[in-house]
Amino acid sequence: MNKIGFIGLGNMGMPMSTNLIEDGYQVIGFDLNKQAEEEFVNAGGEIREKVADLAKECDVVLTSLPSSEAVEAVFLGVDGLIAHSHKEIVLIDTSTVAPEMNEKIADAATEAGVAFLAAPVSGGVIGAEQRTLTFMVGGSEKVFKQVLPLLQCLGANCFHVAKDIDSGTTVKLINNLLIGFYTAGVSEALQIANKKNIDLDRLFDMLNVSYGQSRIYERNYKTFIAEQDYNPGFTISLLLKDLGFAMDLAEKNQLNLPISKQLLKLYREVEQEGYGDKDMAVLYERVKKLSRK
Ligand code: NAD
Repeated sequence: MNKIGFIGLGNMGMPMSTNLIEDGYQVIGFDLNKQAEEEFVNAGGEIREKVADLAKECDVVLTSLPSSEAVEAVFLGVDGLIAHSHKEIVLIDTSTVAPEMNEKIADAATEAGVAFLAAPVSGGVIGAEQRTLTFMVGGSEKVFKQVLPLLQCLGANCFHVAKDIDSGTTVKLINNLLIGFYTAGVSEALQIANKKNIDLDRLFDMLNVSYGQSRIYERNYKTFIAEQDYNPGFTISLLLKDLGFAMDLAEKNQLNLPISKQLLKLYREVEQEGYGDKDMAVLYERVKKLSRK
């Protein structure tokens, strides 16, 4: 497991792939964005022209892609990973995609005799940079154990959830539904503090040692709200994608989640107002406007 491929050198993929380079792996990258590829080469990586080249050369290929469509193209395209993989390879998708996409890729991988794990991550860009990501992995436990040393270079907590390929994604969607709730809760609660002239830094210190504390409050407040800078981060659009998947999952399992539906509506409005590429903590600014009577 010395030659590692990495497809999708974005906010998450760039720090993950360059951490592997730092650890002494030979890492071969691919991204549609040539600027990202250039940055990756400057960090010591190599680039190939086609996804298929990585499938032919590498022992393991990891992907970190923004949508189910991108994942489908990279894995299932004519020039994609499954069509060109050798039999010893392990393919690991760390993107958050629809559970159905995990299944579609797993079916094609099984047919081609190729090992595949669906391994979404939590912990954000900071977690990717600092190697503190949490991996939630669905698929064969044997294959999981085989690649565990590699995953442990990238994350502090690596869980095998179950052999069902979409099991890691299910946990990840539960996680992101909660992130959506906490972000909305913090955005509204802080408006009362503003109105009553309570200093937000002092409020943070007090809530941080009370039951109102949450890691999302800490992240959203310290990194974004206090700095008044909402550059990503984890964007409103990415969160919306995951909330949509979570609601689809609920629907398919005959669950009615009325509060989550309201949440989805709120984030959709924020995206439509042009905040899609801002970090999700920007909801605080939107709620500030909404809360004025
Ligand atoms: P990003 O948009 O910053 O990066 C995605 C990269 O993929 C871009 O560089 C883009 O050019 C590239 N890409 C798109 N389509 C491609 C294709 N067909 N072939 C090759 N490259 C392609 O996104 P991100 O924030 O790095 O997120 C990546 C994944 O990780 C998403 O599924 C997201 O849900 C998940 N995730 C993100 C965070 C976060 O905080 N950003 C946290 C946890 C999980």
